[in-house]
Amino acid sequence: MGEVADGIGGREASGKLRVGVVGGGAAGFFGAIACAEASPSADVTLFEAAREPLGKVRVSGGGRCNVTHHCFEPRELVGHYPRGGKALRGPLTKFQPRDTIDWFADRDVALKVEADGRMFPTTDDSETIVACLMRAAKRSGVRLLTRTPVKNIRRDPEEADKIDKTGEMGLGQFVVTTRDGTQTFDRLLLATGSSRKGYTWAQQLGQTIAEPVPSLFTFQIDDRALHELAGISVAEAIVSVPETKPHQNLTQAGPLLISHWGLSGPAVLKTSAWGARFLHDRGYRTEIRVNWLPDWKPEALRSKLQDLRQREARKTIATFSPFGFSRRLWLYLLDRADLDPKLQWAQLPKAKLNRLVDRLSRCEFQVTGKGQFKDEFVTCGGVRLKEVNFKTMESRVCPGLFFAGEILDVDGVTGGFNFQNAWTTGWLAGRAMAKSIS
Ligand SMILES: Cc1cc2nc3c(=O)[nH]c(=O)nc-3n(C[C@H](O)[C@H](O)[C@H](O)COP(=O)(O)OP(=O)(O)OC[C@H]3O[C@@H](n4cnc5c(N)ncnc54)[C@H](O)[C@@H]3O)c2cc1C
Repeated sequence: MGEVADGIGGREASGKLRVGVVGGGAAGFFGAIACAEASPSADVTLFEAAREPLGKVRVSGGGRCNVTHHCFEPRELVGHYPRGGKALRGPLTKFQPRDTIDWFADRDVALKVEADGRMFPTTDDSETIVACLMRAAKRSGVRLLTRTPVKNIRRDPEEADKIDKTGEMGLGQFVVTTRDGTQTFDRLLLATGSSRKGYTWAQQLGQTIAEPVPSLFTFQIDDRALHELAGISVAEAIVSVPETKPHQNLTQAGPLLISHWGLSGPAVLKTSAWGARFLHDRGYRTEIRVNWLPDWKPEALRSKLQDLRQREARKTIATFSPFGFSRRLWLYLLDRADLDPKLQWAQLPKAKLNRLVDRLSRCEFQVTGKGQFKDEFVTCGGVRLKEVNFKTMESRVCPGLFFAGEILDVDGVTGGFNFQNAWTTGWLAGRAMAKSIS
């Protein structure tokens, strides 16, 4: 239930400097808490449009919340961000996954790591994270206004003018309008995630925006025989987009899952993330290649199949799958190589054997669209990074304005990297706002 905003607050009324945070998601909460904890002279108000804040935290990681990733080397961490990795390197030396773990541990929430490096609360319940953030916000004195969508943000022209002329940071330069009236703030953190309004306000306040497009999606492939294999996965495959160049990073390894509409799983999601803009520009239509057996070089595959020709000469090629695939997937791959499953191994001529090697190591698919991945989805694009000082997260074009989380042109692959961006940039912004006040 939201508190009612009390009209025009101010330094005179409260004796404190006023900090507004727009957006009660992971980044907004972290920013608001970090600011309130660091400066007792900050009066922090957090605006959230929804009835319940932290909506994405709640649904994240299939309801378990993949809070961060078990990787403590900033240089390595940044390799998981298709956009913004370079800019995040400095911030990650200040607040990285180890700090996230400690932050939650200090507030009685333990995280655990899974085999692939993803970290979750030991309760396996995202409500633990939500409750922790709510408690921390309350304890630190953050005034949380839920069901309070911000309708407008503008800079007070007199204050803005003073700052622009003298460089001196004035008071009350940001005027925030909600249905309850207007409030003025001395510092403002925009943490509205991928909301259109957030981008518009950022633009009105002088930022430029890299066009927002989706990232982390599955590939739609119109192949009924493939759809019939829905649910089958392979532990390690390589997905690549032949049309692209190596520096575009569109060759990605990982588990691959066949779905009712095409291909999914980490290898596809990573490819979609690195290729978010390329794929958007192509209307999500492109050719991809799948290497179903990345541990096998084509020559090794060829000699294994030649060996089978000798050793299993009388058995049909469909009898068993020699590479540990499910039999149905093996039959599909035989079909893709135009091989009659009734053929005996001994009857497999060289040309057909080579065709099979080709389908196993570079099987082509035509992507015809993008499906939405329900577990994790993020936006590529947002506030351009060169206009933000990543030491403080303050705008370089509008003093006193800060950014954190997904509103920035930063996005990671799946695995907890997107929340880590929200924690890191939120924490930095909160601390910097507090410091600028004291
Ligand atoms: C289904 C799903 C699952 C995910 N799972 C994971 C995961 O397990 N691990 C991971 O690292 N990442 C995950 N992500 C990505 C992650 O959730 C986001 O990167 C992260 O939430 C971004 O945080 P944020 O605070 O910047 O933005 P958001 O979480 O989007 O928060 C923005 C907030 O601003 C509010 N807001 C917007 N406009 C206004 C307004 N006008 N006035 C007031 N409030 C406003 C919104 O209501 C929202 O609460 C997942 C995403 C999705 C969609």
